Amino acid sequence: MKTWSNMGAKRKVLYEGKAKTIYEGPEPGTVIQYFKDDATAGNGAKHDIIAGKGVLNNRISAHLMTKLEAIGIPTHFMRSLNMREQLVRQLEIIPLEVVVRNIAAGSLVKRLGVKEGTILTHPIIEFYYKKDELNDPMVNEHHIVGFGWADPYELEEIIHMAWRVNDYLNGLFAGIGLRLVDFKLEFGRLYGEYGELYILLGDEISPDNCRLWDAQTNEKLDKDRFRQDLGNVIEAYSQVAERLGLIPKGGIIEGGNINEQLAASLGEIQNEVAEQRKLREVNKTSPNKPRKV
Ligand code: C5P
Repeated sequence: MKTWSNMGAKRKVLYEGKAKTIYEGPEPGTVIQYFKDDATAGNGAKHDIIAGKGVLNNRISAHLMTKLEAIGIPTHFMRSLNMREQLVRQLEIIPLEVVVRNIAAGSLVKRLGVKEGTILTHPIIEFYYKKDELNDPMVNEHHIVGFGWADPYELEEIIHMAWRVNDYLNGLFAGIGLRLVDFKLEFGRLYGEYGELYILLGDEISPDNCRLWDAQTNEKLDKDRFRQDLGNVIEAYSQVAERLGLIPKGGIIEGGNINEQLAASLGEIQNEVAEQRKLREVNKTSPNKPRKV
């Protein structure tokens, strides 16, 4: 039987991340994202395996990306392949972590001494330069443009998309009794046939990179359960997936292990909109890939 553990053993690894592995895709321009059960915090200082996390994140991210695509936000997600893998477009990575905050928590609380839970009257966007050796330092728009990580047109598009994602996801999570405290996005470039440039949403959107609190109790249902040793990490992630209608009531974890049969029987998620998508072109062509006409 083909299961997640024996699939793709011979495939070429393009990138080994902390929570995901990127494999070569079946066609040019595609890659496969494999969601691992590994959880890390403090730039890898703390590490553990949380059985089933990869399955839940794969499903949650596929669902949210598909929803975002349906409101016109282009994403790299194409379709789920199995319970731990999804087919995505290969992007030229923009080395930024884009964090959107609605409620004070995490590093904002530490840095500025604001009280955790303070509602921000105006949401905040922060940028971090993706560089493990430097612990992903915070940067601003001038660093980004000045060092050429993104040009002003790309940055404008990224900010525009981040606000739209925030507005949409706030509503989506509010509808299932969750508060979207903050989250992190990553973006990449895709070049069209004639060298035109598109900015697409990449990476994943899951409780690994969103803070989600129960609207009634403020219980943390995200990676802070791991970061802060609060326990029941997988139950928290399962609750998010369950409220989104992505797994049956009672979850897919049995006695600390994933019920593989149940997990394998979950329906596939396909990004149908991406197939016929009309991408919005950023006002620039790649300097390396001039227009053919
Ligand atoms: O730690 P901090 O408060 O800056 O995190 C803000 C948001 O960005 C959180 O939702 C966190 O999960 C996410 N994040 C992330 N990857 C990082 C840093 C932060 O997903 N490397």
